[in-house]
Amino acid sequence: MADQTPVSAASLGLGLDLAYAPAPEATDHVRIREHYGLLIGGKWVEPASGKGFKTVNPATEVVLAEVAEAGEEDVDLAVKAARAAYDKVWSKTSGAQRAKYLFRIARILQERAREFAVLETIDGGKPIKESRDVDLPLAAAHFFYYAGWADKLDYAFPGRQPQPLGVAAQVIPWNFPLLMAAWKLAPALAAGNTVVLKPAETTPLTALLLGEVLEQAELPPGVVNILTGAGATGAALVAHPDVEKVAFTGSTEVGKAIQRTLAGSGKRLTLELGGKAANIVFDDAPIDQAVEGIVNGIYFNQGHVCCAGSRLLVQESIAEPLIAKLKRRMATLRVGDPLDKNTDVGAINSRQQLARIEELVASGEAEGAELYQPPCDLPARGFWFRPTVFTGVAQSYRIAQEEIFGPVLSVLTFRTPAEAVEKANNTPYGLSAGVWTDKGSRILDLANRLRAGVIWANTFNRFDPTSPFGGYKESGFGREGGLHGLTAYVDLS
Ligand code: NDP
Repeated sequence: MADQTPVSAASLGLGLDLAYAPAPEATDHVRIREHYGLLIGGKWVEPASGKGFKTVNPATEVVLAEVAEAGEEDVDLAVKAARAAYDKVWSKTSGAQRAKYLFRIARILQERAREFAVLETIDGGKPIKESRDVDLPLAAAHFFYYAGWADKLDYAFPGRQPQPLGVAAQVIPWNFPLLMAAWKLAPALAAGNTVVLKPAETTPLTALLLGEVLEQAELPPGVVNILTGAGATGAALVAHPDVEKVAFTGSTEVGKAIQRTLAGSGKRLTLELGGKAANIVFDDAPIDQAVEGIVNGIYFNQGHVCCAGSRLLVQESIAEPLIAKLKRRMATLRVGDPLDKNTDVGAINSRQQLARIEELVASGEAEGAELYQPPCDLPARGFWFRPTVFTGVAQSYRIAQEEIFGPVLSVLTFRTPAEAVEKANNTPYGLSAGVWTDKGSRILDLANRLRAGVIWANTFNRFDPTSPFGGYKESGFGREGGLHGLTAYVDLS
């Protein structure tokens, strides 16, 4: 029987100290202001109410800056600015010119990548190696990709005469703040729309820095307006009568509320909501690679990922050795300072999110699942949660049904492919799935039967701007990325 006892990296018995020395990323090139206003019509302005809120570093609880809180009056001004920019400038700007602006934004993001990566990590808690190697390159790639389409819309939709929609209201979450802004802005601008963007309350700083990049790129005033604020700001924005299109990424609950608000309005809507993805491992899978894929699937970005592989479905015959290997691997994950280049799991984004994770984990224990967490020291301040795996999980448990949005994996087993499909589809969500097997035919068969918008085979959490992303069922509708992502921002009638 496989050894179930996890080992730490330092106890491999080689007589060496394998502990990593601290490798903190420098922060001296990042300038965080004490106070940030709203970007409306190309100017940084104060909100009508004069109100603001604080954004904190979740790894230290230190206040980083005060940020303006936009109210209804500001929303109205921003939508008016976007409308004026659309009517007078952007709708008359050729596709080739729009492409130039998008290329410029992409280049500036690349040039300032280190500054953005550090700011993203300070404001949101994600490990620097992820913001540096994933968020930033992908954000720039989205602008590059859609820049390429801006002057080729007639080829993207042959014979259809695509037209922009007008003003787009875009509300984004806190798990990939800059990347979600890029996912939303790039196709909207490429297609000729103007935008009012609302970043999440806990992670506004990179969207505000992006506002400076738009100025640096000399994007005409009002083409993109940025309103910081809380849920009420987002609600006022999506309900504004003069927006033609709403794009939202966030919780299913808020997505449903937005759907109710927009019902009958004729506004176009795309929703990218939660998920409870199954990562399915068959007995013929390469087990070590699968373990890496499972770790990447759930512990990447602290599990704050809508498409996270939060349910591991493992074939019963290999469950025991696979879980033993997984636990050994978990014991080597480095949890702590997100600015350290060796950190694998950073800080939980906010106190509220930590409370939600703790509540769901407590429910898992109360319902009878078995919890394992590797021993690791957590910093004294800040919001932290150890990488966690639950075994002995029944499908009815809340930890098997609800999105935890944290570093928590629920393990279930199956015997046959049919049972795997049945269990994988047994959730209200349908955003992503993973299949690990040696058999190509099985991958194709499962891909047809899994109700998920994205299915990874022998890998997980891979993203590319050319590839559409979106969900089934309560994971939302509409697609972002690729040609599909452009479709959401054009009128083809
Ligand atoms: P929300 O859905 O509340 O946040 C997403 C964005 O919507 C934020 O910008 C938020 O603003 C804004 N918002 C909040 N209420 C409204 C509203 N009524 N109308 C319009 N916009 C609104 O997610 P939470 O941050 O509350 O997270 C709760 C749970 O949602 C998480 O635990 C996780 O399970 C899930 N989630 C899923 C995401 C995904 O990508 N699938 C992303 C984020 C969360 P503000 O930040 O100010 O609240």
